Amino acid sequence: MPEYSNFETKAIRHQAERSHNREHSVPIYATSSFVFEDAEEARAMFAEEIPGNIYSRYSNPNNDEFIEKLCLLEHTEDGIATASGMAAMFCSIAAFVGQGDHIVASRSLFGSTHQILTSLMPKWGVSHTYVSIDNLEEWENAIQPNTKLMFLETPSNPAQDLADLEALGKLAAKHNIILSVDNCFATPYIQNPADFGAHIITHSATKFIDGQGRVLGGAVLGTTDLIKEVRFLARHSGPSMSPFHGWILSKSLETMAVRMDRHCDNAMELATELEKIDDVAWVKYPHLASHPQYELAKKQMKKGGGLVTFELKGGVERGRKFLDALQMVSLSANLGDSRSIATHPASTTHSKLLEEERLAVGISNGLIRVSAGLEHIEDIKKDIFRAIEVSA
Ligand SMILES: *Cc1c(COP(=O)(O)O)cnc(C)c1O
Repeated sequence: MPEYSNFETKAIRHQAERSHNREHSVPIYATSSFVFEDAEEARAMFAEEIPGNIYSRYSNPNNDEFIEKLCLLEHTEDGIATASGMAAMFCSIAAFVGQGDHIVASRSLFGSTHQILTSLMPKWGVSHTYVSIDNLEEWENAIQPNTKLMFLETPSNPAQDLADLEALGKLAAKHNIILSVDNCFATPYIQNPADFGAHIITHSATKFIDGQGRVLGGAVLGTTDLIKEVRFLARHSGPSMSPFHGWILSKSLETMAVRMDRHCDNAMELATELEKIDDVAWVKYPHLASHPQYELAKKQMKKGGGLVTFELKGGVERGRKFLDALQMVSLSANLGDSRSIATHPASTTHSKLLEEERLAVGISNGLIRVSAGLEHIEDIKKDIFRAIEVSA
């Protein structure tokens, strides 16, 4: 296969080898196991002397195609596919820490990732320190001799604060610590943390990678050495992706560039227009000049992403009235769907945090997060602006 340098072409043309049926579109390999030519081949494959599929908990052509392609798009050497984003988060953390180790993490994490660090890891003797995503000094001061991992998501959800990937990549290298980045919000189309020194990249493929709200999936990507450890953990603990989901997600990557362009253009226009409305207290979007880290956003993110965060004057009450007044935009906790979605994080996705913990990560009580879908922008704006008006 020739090598292509452009995202779109890699995402479309990297395919599993064609079978004797000469299919153009790769079929689904719904099989739990694979057969060996003879006893010697079976022995050699188990001994990892030769490559090949043995059992779908280890590898499967659909999942391999998905993950190889994602590696090309994320500029990483190797990776594994997992059943969900959380399986990816768990494996990417558990593979590198043990009794007595320490993790430094951004305080603004996805709810279940936060639970892994605060409720599960301490059971195995692993401690953590939370720091502000955008405060480099706090990151450095939190590092201890037993720190094995630095973990973050950028932009943060839903506050849209950014981590300086280049600075943190240098910090991780200086202290010989693994830098792990959940790149689910930005996607590989917009931001490649590996280019800035991140060693491990994780994804919830459930979001923009699938892009149509159909399946759960996840991925852990990184250097060959590190993925070897993650693969060992996954192979023996079993959070494997279903071949059907691998097939769906590999097809999804084929359209990622065109979808992300539209998500980002719709989000950018929505954010720009929301800023002009008197009843909107504030809007946060990485590529708006009003974002406090606008320069950094321009440097490390090709586009602003598909999410817009804002607050209406009138706080929680007004926010809830607004959500109830929406006629097209869905009320859902998901994001990265072809359908636009509005969420009130304080009463849903982040309701388990104390109010002071929420405020510390920029989630005010009236904050609303919109995942801009692929509908026509005029219809998205019409629904949102009408709901703002009638909720006044
Ligand atoms: C959704 C999400 C996850 C978890 O992924 P699942 O596929 O739901 O398990 C992790 N991190 C971020 C940033 C997410 O948005």
